[in-house]
Amino acid sequence: MPSDGENMSNDHGSLFATALTQFNRGADLIGLSDDLRQILSQPKNEIIVNFPVKMDDGRFEVFTGYRIQHNNVLGPYKGGVRFSPLVNLDEVKALASWMTWKSALCDIPFGGAKGGISFDPHRCSSEELERVVRRFTHSLGGNIGPDYDIPAPDLGSNSQTMVWMMDTYANSTGSSERQNVKRVVTGKTLETGGSHGREKATGQGVVFCLQHWADEVGFDLSSATVALQGWGNVGSATGRILQVHGAKVLAVSDHAGAIADQDGIDAFDLTDWVQENGSVKGYPNADWIEPSDLWSADVDILIPAALENQITADNANDIKAKVVVEAANGPTTLEAEEILSEKSVDVLPDILVNAGGVIVSYFEWLQNRSAQRWDLDDVDHRLREILWAAADSVVALQKDRESSSRRDAAYAVALQRLKTVYNQRGIFP
Ligand code: NAD
Repeated sequence: MPSDGENMSNDHGSLFATALTQFNRGADLIGLSDDLRQILSQPKNEIIVNFPVKMDDGRFEVFTGYRIQHNNVLGPYKGGVRFSPLVNLDEVKALASWMTWKSALCDIPFGGAKGGISFDPHRCSSEELERVVRRFTHSLGGNIGPDYDIPAPDLGSNSQTMVWMMDTYANSTGSSERQNVKRVVTGKTLETGGSHGREKATGQGVVFCLQHWADEVGFDLSSATVALQGWGNVGSATGRILQVHGAKVLAVSDHAGAIADQDGIDAFDLTDWVQENGSVKGYPNADWIEPSDLWSADVDILIPAALENQITADNANDIKAKVVVEAANGPTTLEAEEILSEKSVDVLPDILVNAGGVIVSYFEWLQNRSAQRWDLDDVDHRLREILWAAADSVVALQKDRESSSRRDAAYAVALQRLKTVYNQRGIFP
């Protein structure tokens, strides 16, 4: 529980408290000891940096950045950096812990971390943004590293952000080491050492998880209807890939508003529009709707792909979808999850569903380490294998413990892996 006066994420209270409740439910399922609960209930390191940046008008502004390193018992700390005015310590702690569970669940050799800067990147010029990113990277200094802590993109950041971080880090190391440190960040552009398939990886992973669920429950994805919150990296890739599989996107919302069309919104056309215009606002080939109406859309699949705490006790009862797919991190409050369970709406949990990003980040890191480039089919194939294996373990554990939710089962699989490693290694000294 936050105890040090840190900011709460929003009016739904502490996101880290939600994360701890989810963690404890999974821990109960596998009988995790009190010692390990204590250790895993807090991040190992909480780094906060305040750094000045010269703005275009000559003024200096001081920015606050975070890097929370939750756990590294399975491998280097790993997780995105988020740029948003809502970024705060409590939020980043929750997001960092979710990265630990995600990597453990997918059995990839990474720990969990998350970072962010509390500011609105859309209010900065490109030059200001570059200075903010470079100065943040410089302020983090040796707290990140290619085998120590490896950032990636998240909400509000992108592949260009990662290239600036990599270049700044490389220029702060000795010249003979520069070629070896590319993997200090993942999610880079293809040209600077990124991986094929990283840009769409999280959306691709969402669709692989949906296919797994559809096979399990006997649902036909090719005639499905979908509503999505968020048309950024994750939301738009998910929408486009689902459309290729025959599904129809009927409603979309983002920070500027919401649109709907009963005949289907063309996901590729909408992506072009958002790229040119910055949001779904004004999109000419759909109707403008109230953003709150997205939750009650008459669709089979509802995909929150924007922010946390979006599906709440206020809108969960209105949901008509058969399945909620948590492409975003933490989009469902604890109360809303209970309501969805009573309504028999399946919830595919974030730590499984959006793990495609960190998995392909792992592939990028491996490729950088061995100076290789894998082709897209190879990346997609390996991604699917890892996600389906993780989904199989979740389903198996859930069948074994009938009363558990998919989320509890996903946590239990992840925590069992961490428990085994801690038991074998012991606690130093
Ligand atoms: P992004 O910045 O590319 O897109 C964010 C989207 O959310 C945009 O469409 C934006 O308009 C929308 N949005 C912002 N505020 C909103 C609001 N108040 N109401 C409705 N929509 C709003 O970010 P992203 O990388 O797509 O990340 C989206 C979510 O997915 C986040 O929860 C992130 O943590 C999670 N995630 C991302 C990755 C990744 O690889 N990028 C991996 C795993 C999980």
